[in-house]
Amino acid sequence: MELTEALAKLAELEKKLYAYQAADSALYLDGTTVAPRDTAEGRGVALGVLAGERHKLFSAPETGELLDFLWERRGELDQLRRRQVEELRRSYAQLTRIPAEEYMEYAMLTNEADDLWHRAKEKSDFELFRPVLEKLVAFNIKFAGYYDASKAPYDALLNEYERGVDMAYLDSFFATLRQRIVPLLHAVMAKEPPDDSFLRRRYPLEAQRRFSDYLMEVLELDRNHCAIGETEHPYTLEFNNKDVRITTNYNENDVGFSMYSVIHEGGHAKYELDICDEVQYTCLSGGVSMGVHESQSRFYENLIGRSLPFIRAIFPKMKEFFPEQLAGVTAEQFYRAVNKVQPSLVRTEADELTYCLHIMVRYEIEKQLIGGTLEVKDVPETWNRLYQEYLGVDVPDDKRGCLQDSHWSGGAFGYFPSYALGSAYGAQMLKNMEAETDVWGPVSRGDLSVVSGWLREKVHKFGGLLEPADVVKNACGQFDPTVFADYLEKKYSALYGL
Ligand code: ZN
Repeated sequence: MELTEALAKLAELEKKLYAYQAADSALYLDGTTVAPRDTAEGRGVALGVLAGERHKLFSAPETGELLDFLWERRGELDQLRRRQVEELRRSYAQLTRIPAEEYMEYAMLTNEADDLWHRAKEKSDFELFRPVLEKLVAFNIKFAGYYDASKAPYDALLNEYERGVDMAYLDSFFATLRQRIVPLLHAVMAKEPPDDSFLRRRYPLEAQRRFSDYLMEVLELDRNHCAIGETEHPYTLEFNNKDVRITTNYNENDVGFSMYSVIHEGGHAKYELDICDEVQYTCLSGGVSMGVHESQSRFYENLIGRSLPFIRAIFPKMKEFFPEQLAGVTAEQFYRAVNKVQPSLVRTEADELTYCLHIMVRYEIEKQLIGGTLEVKDVPETWNRLYQEYLGVDVPDDKRGCLQDSHWSGGAFGYFPSYALGSAYGAQMLKNMEAETDVWGPVSRGDLSVVSGWLREKVHKFGGLLEPADVVKNACGQFDPTVFADYLEKKYSALYGL
């Protein structure tokens, strides 16, 4: 085989893999937005076939031979092709360890699980979800062995979401955060809470939808390339750097929920839209890791979106959308309200300070589930006990307890820690950004172009061209979780007059 011929085959393989991914995403988008309720079965059949075909293509011996051939000639490849081959070889090695039937069975199982989880959550009935969760856990333990049998199963899964991250790393990371956050939380809770009752007035959905449009404009999201929809659980879905979808969920009596969902998902979308053209339709398109992705969404949501300069900038316009609801409220009062610290039950509604404690609960449970020291049937009890221990709250039902998140129904064990890592990465990025340029002058005028430009150059544009750890290094320098702890301490000490 000639090198040019092999490169043409590589391009063809990548395009086909992209097409399978696009079909899968389109079905998911449909299923979560406009599809009628009892229609999951048919999509499940299609998804199962697609997953099987993709698996067949990707795990074919010819694919392995092609990748080996290109890897032997890697000295002659440019950086883009070399990275592509490296990544594809890694995925190939993993995939070929999973038998095709198991892979297909798993794809259908996650589809079924999503449906069951919705129903179980609606009824707050863990028993309904338990059998399928048991199967998902068993599959993941088995898959972890396929991924890397030399590692503890949970370490192998963590590595899938954030390469290089393991339990030892996270145990120390979370211990550092706990040591700093818990005393800070106690000090904050001893103070008078700010009034946030105006956030819970009635905010008509139509006005909230127009407000979302405005926020997308402030975030510089081009509506010709990024659409917004509505789902139970907000998410971002990317087809390529010219077609990204975000979703939100409106709550008539909580204006902050959708507001910060749009800004959060908008941060994910900005990352995807900024990734360079060269890597599109290859395995290097898309954000490099979950942790880096969350660093971007949480950067916009918290570091920018919950900052005083940003709120001052958008508040006059906000008052136009909600004149009665915000009558007599100042930007400073709004700032204090959206930063109110309140240990709570639901992760997606958590404030910036207690958020990581929610993640620690999930981390502990996953670690034990995958490690085999906790049975699925004992998840609710453990969940409730840890919520009491970490956050001091009593969990009244599973709907607001262990059934609240969709991650496990999607088979994502090892994903949650990315949220906390992302928050910590973001704080360090901000520190570096501030050292290099005037961040807050433009933000206080509602101009996010300086922030966007910095993140585009340091993080976004590479897509998967660099390793996750190198992207983090590029934007953060040496990772140090105390920077995040310092940031929290400074912000909340000022807010609460500690
Ligand atoms: Zn996110």
